[in-house]
Amino acid sequence: MKDRIYLSSPHMGGNEIKYINEAFEENWIAPLGPNVSNFEKEICKYTNASYATALASGTSAIHLALKSLGVKSKDLVFCSSLTFSATANPITYLGATPVFIDSDYESWNMSHIALQKAFDYFLENDKKPKAVVIVNLYGQSADYDKLKKICDKYEVPIIEDAAESLGATYKGKYSGTVGDIGIYSFNGNKIITTSGGGMLVSNIEKYTKKALFWATQSRENERHYEHKEIGYNYRMSNICAGIGRGQLEVIEDRISKKKQIYELYKEGFKDIKEIQMMNICDYGRSNYWLSVMTIDKNSKVKPIDIILALEKENIESRPVWKPMHMQPIFKDYKFFSTLENQSVSEDLFNQGVCLPSDTKNSLSDFKYIIDIIKKLF
Ligand SMILES: *Cc1c(COP(=O)(O)O)cnc(C)c1O
Repeated sequence: MKDRIYLSSPHMGGNEIKYINEAFEENWIAPLGPNVSNFEKEICKYTNASYATALASGTSAIHLALKSLGVKSKDLVFCSSLTFSATANPITYLGATPVFIDSDYESWNMSHIALQKAFDYFLENDKKPKAVVIVNLYGQSADYDKLKKICDKYEVPIIEDAAESLGATYKGKYSGTVGDIGIYSFNGNKIITTSGGGMLVSNIEKYTKKALFWATQSRENERHYEHKEIGYNYRMSNICAGIGRGQLEVIEDRISKKKQIYELYKEGFKDIKEIQMMNICDYGRSNYWLSVMTIDKNSKVKPIDIILALEKENIESRPVWKPMHMQPIFKDYKFFSTLENQSVSEDLFNQGVCLPSDTKNSLSDFKYIIDIIKKLF
């Protein structure tokens, strides 16, 4: 059997081990140390964010981002519906109530039309959300000018879930720095990895400072252990940060390979009218984390046929994220759709397939994948 082809797996650059060795040599095995503070500085330099706090995961970063904005029990938080559950789960950690917002077909991200509908509905009852969590799906930014205009009008801050989109841009700004607070994930399958980790970035220092405080057990500045608030053990380790530093050195190579993969698929499928690759908007650069396609509803080939045909050849592919408003755990929360009688996110879930986008694979591997899929049509 051929080696398995993955959706997206860790791809080391080479210098990761150097930073890990430095940590070993200086016995910075314990949490924190120079790799953590340097990794934070290097992320700030790369993204032009003013401040950063390295954390244990993207999920913990979202949790502390919400807390930094004062989200508390019974508050409303608007949230993209088409995403991984880690975007929405932390809202419930705080006892707040998520409200799910549909996507548009252009970017697959939060629709300003659905967002406005949600504001209209709640303002009528004198309510507004404490924050809006906007996801940049599969490496592409949402259309922030349109979304920010609405959030600014009602003075509601934005958390940018840039877990999948480090290195992408929106009108010249780096993904994660467009909202009030941005978060990145360095999970194993993301564009770069620390084996597991996350980061919270902002241009407002009080947010990253407060996150750092909570992430280190809310220790007051005393010789003894003094606590006035509940804390968390959410900090990134110095070993993981060493991996991250090596990875950040090769992020531009990874993005250009991911783009090449997307373009190979686009070119490969151009004659099959039932297949459409995810639209890339011209307001910025995508990091092309995953190449994703949709298949027309009336095609005789269904997404599951493609997933099973690839699986037979030991190739991983997956449906698009199942929207949060369709998840059993979130079914009782409100959802606002973009169109009158149709949910865009539901449609993308039903018609979409995430294709292998692993930068370790060769261009001929992708031609092989394209051939397997083409044969079905
Ligand atoms: C991966 C991911 C997260 C969670 O990040 P972890 O580091 O795995 O906790 C959050 N949101 C989105 C959109 C993601 O893809």
